[in-house]
Amino acid sequence: MTEVTLEVQGVAATNPYRTAQRQFDQAADLLQLDPGLRAILRQVRREFTVNFPVRMDDNRIRMFTGYRVQHNLTRGPAKGGIRFHPEVSLDEVKALSMWMTWKCALTGLPYGGAKGGVICDPATLSVHELENLTRRFTSEMTVLIGPDSDIPAPDVNTNSQVMAWIMDTISMQRGYSVPATVTGKPLEIGGSEGRPAATGRGVMTVTMEACQRLQIAPEEATVAIQGFGNVGSVSADLMHQRGFRIVAVSDVFGGIYQPQGLDVPALLEHQRRTGRVAGFPGATAVSNAALLELPATILIPAALENQLTIHNAARVQARLIIEAANGPTTPEADEVFLQRGVTLIPDILANAGGVTVSYFEWVQDIQSFFWEEAEINDRLIRIMRRAYQQMEELATEHRTTLRMGAYCLAVKRVADATAVRGIYP
Ligand code: GLU
Repeated sequence: MTEVTLEVQGVAATNPYRTAQRQFDQAADLLQLDPGLRAILRQVRREFTVNFPVRMDDNRIRMFTGYRVQHNLTRGPAKGGIRFHPEVSLDEVKALSMWMTWKCALTGLPYGGAKGGVICDPATLSVHELENLTRRFTSEMTVLIGPDSDIPAPDVNTNSQVMAWIMDTISMQRGYSVPATVTGKPLEIGGSEGRPAATGRGVMTVTMEACQRLQIAPEEATVAIQGFGNVGSVSADLMHQRGFRIVAVSDVFGGIYQPQGLDVPALLEHQRRTGRVAGFPGATAVSNAALLELPATILIPAALENQLTIHNAARVQARLIIEAANGPTTPEADEVFLQRGVTLIPDILANAGGVTVSYFEWVQDIQSFFWEEAEINDRLIRIMRRAYQQMEELATEHRTTLRMGAYCLAVKRVADATAVRGIYP
């Protein structure tokens, strides 16, 4: 199989860029997209690779490799997060940049798609080393980054502090403060109310929408969440508040399971104290892989790509899957879920709450006029619900899955914008 290029824990994993292109091809077929437009949109526009030195605490110099990829800029500046992870690769970043294009088009945000990543394990770096790495990587990317051109944001293993260093580095080079150059910043320097919880709030909103349609009452639903970072933990908290029973969660160190339902506020406190979910009193240990197959009404992968594959899709017990992570499901697993009647809310909608409030942050920074959290949450929920409904309409129109409904809408918007702008020169 040519698709298989990576080995993760002994299991052959799918190349995410191939997944992204296969998903795009499927949508292009459904839309009967013009061959020229298809050729343009199935590739990324710019791929930037940089090898850069960082002085470590022991005074030695270590080289790192980072990427920034812009898939498309037709509908506006490129937008997308930066991740720090040992398994970052160019193809992963290319896939993630393409998914950002569709996510922004689907929600109607005036952006193209981008993504960045540095191959590193932040857990092994001191705060000082992390700051040096972030600032040097930002400096290398100066040619690309700016409020009108490309606006980074947090992603896996990056947070508001990292965004502050990015904002400061760009601002020092320009000689004045440029808050709108990056989103997900601390409030003190032009961050937005509601941004830290935005992705989780979006996840909760689409889950409620899906439950309503499937006639699942929150109080009767059990939920398993893989990943307990910003997205997974906020989703768990907000859904617990809405009456859902969160029965399993996990992080990089492993997971926990309590069929009666976890006390989420106590779990958040335990995680704050110990740095992990494992060891939470009254719950049994479960692996990240086993969590996906637990008896639960709703499964929320909120970690990395390629978690739901041909190897485990048939054993997933959930009726509803909410893709809080980017690219957690391979095309083969999608097919299994379709055949088994499992409803899947695709990543480009399910986790779009983050970039939506990033957009609000950028708008507030440009206008130097800041909104209250209630207004932000209200606008976020309206955008998520509208996109959900439009996705559903397109899925019905093309007699296809919700993923392809979302893709048809997003790809058509970018294709129409490309066609009306014309091909330069
Ligand atoms: N990293 C997030 C995502 O994958 C947020 C991107 C953004 O806010 O620009 O959607």
